[in-house]
Amino acid sequence: MGQFLPFTKQVIKNLFSEPATTQYPFVPREYPERTRGHVDINKDNCILCGMCMRSCPPGAITVDRVGKTWSINRFDCVQCGYCVEKCPKKCLSITPGYQEPGPEKFSYTVEVPYEPPKPAAKPAAPAAATSVTEGAKAVSETKAE
Ligand code: SF4
Ligand code: SF4
Repeated sequence: MGQFLPFTKQVIKNLFSEPATTQYPFVPREYPERTRGHVDINKDNCILCGMCMRSCPPGAITVDRVGKTWSINRFDCVQCGYCVEKCPKKCLSITPGYQEPGPEKFSYTVEVPYEPPKPAAKPAAPAAATSVTEGAKAVSETKAE
């Protein structure tokens, strides 16, 4: 009888204490602050430089400068955070919370509103040769003095 006593004590204790598990998915999971969940982009700051694509070890990111899109294959991403570190505009972040599972691999794509700067207008051509000549004349006149 004495051997059941510790077990009985534990049962009674558990009856009156909070459950050790959560009622997922009915109770949303709270992730620790530094959880490496998935990569997110603030597309408004992206300049389509492609640095993230070139620095991603498994090649999970694709940047299309012509089509103005940024894509990530989350199934290839290993949450190393290297792209976040390398982005010159700091528009990538690793958000707590895991990606949704899926039966097939797919890429998540966003359209980037970035407009590349237009090439600067060419400076106006120097005025006609007369003014150059005039300038040369002025120099020679100065030297002569
Ligand atoms: S976190 Fe790492 S693996 Fe994932 S997209 Fe960024 S560089 Fe690639
Ligand atoms: S997310 Fe950052 S590194 Fe990647 S293309 Fe945009 S600006 Fe460049």
